[in-house]
Amino acid sequence: MPLYRTYSDYLAEFFPEKMQKLTVNAGFTCPNRDGTKGRGGCIYCNNQSFNPTFASHDDSVTEQLLKGKQFFARKYPQMRYLAYFQAYTNTHSSDIDRLTALYEEALSVPGVDGIIIGTRPDCMPQQLLERLRLLNTRPGRVMVEYGAESSHDATLQLINRCHTWADTVDAVQRTADAGIHCGVHLILGLPGETETMMLETVDRIATLPLMTVKFHQLQVIRGTRLAQMMEQGSVELPHFTVESYLDLCAAIVRRLPSHIAIERFTSQSPDNLLITPRWGLKNYQFTELLRKRLEQT
Ligand code: SF4
Repeated sequence: MPLYRTYSDYLAEFFPEKMQKLTVNAGFTCPNRDGTKGRGGCIYCNNQSFNPTFASHDDSVTEQLLKGKQFFARKYPQMRYLAYFQAYTNTHSSDIDRLTALYEEALSVPGVDGIIIGTRPDCMPQQLLERLRLLNTRPGRVMVEYGAESSHDATLQLINRCHTWADTVDAVQRTADAGIHCGVHLILGLPGETETMMLETVDRIATLPLMTVKFHQLQVIRGTRLAQMMEQGSVELPHFTVESYLDLCAAIVRRLPSHIAIERFTSQSPDNLLITPRWGLKNYQFTELLRKRLEQT
């Protein structure tokens, strides 16, 4: 029996070929930076840490995807692609026609079979969901990934998310009601959170109509408010070692319902930006350690 449902298992249900995500930077900003919701952003956020070089927003969506394809097609000519609108908040515009045109542009690039839209749970108007429903002509053609981060409002406030857990529940429910697959992103090890609180969040997401979940360990990145707070000693962070983080992830796998696919457990920011934790492990290496741990226990 598989240890848990992986993201590849999930994708294989809808896409027979090997799929690769291509990150797209469509030049969005974030409502938590431009004053719509807040200023300064989430305390840990430095968007530089998750943009590959081919996703420069000086290029059009099509140009970025073609460059991304070129990069991967040399090694895997049969590969198919998912356009991943990742940087900042990819539904943050009142111009629904413009948003729809960007998503349609990505879907019209040869070899691109679906789009994944990364956004905040307080940034999905019903009118846009209606457009996404029309674009979603088959399962997996349109997927939405919400940054939930935690189910605890006190934590969300502390990290300056400027949205609540109720926003996440509402957005996920409305997205599922529109027939669109959605996932959430959660951060493990946020300031003030105990293991019990993190597992409570896992239990809460288990009750939502989700297809996928992505976990990351909290990373302290240079130039962020979190880094500053850590330096000043004004914030207390849980000190995960690889071993203790493996224990937590094993507990999560055991309590998450088997129909929710787990996309990843760790993230690795560029070396020159990362302050801590410096585990030196790539996601696949951590996943391998976790598999061994789950098989032994
Ligand atoms: S993490 Fe997302 S929501 Fe928070 S400031 Fe960065 S882009 Fe905005």
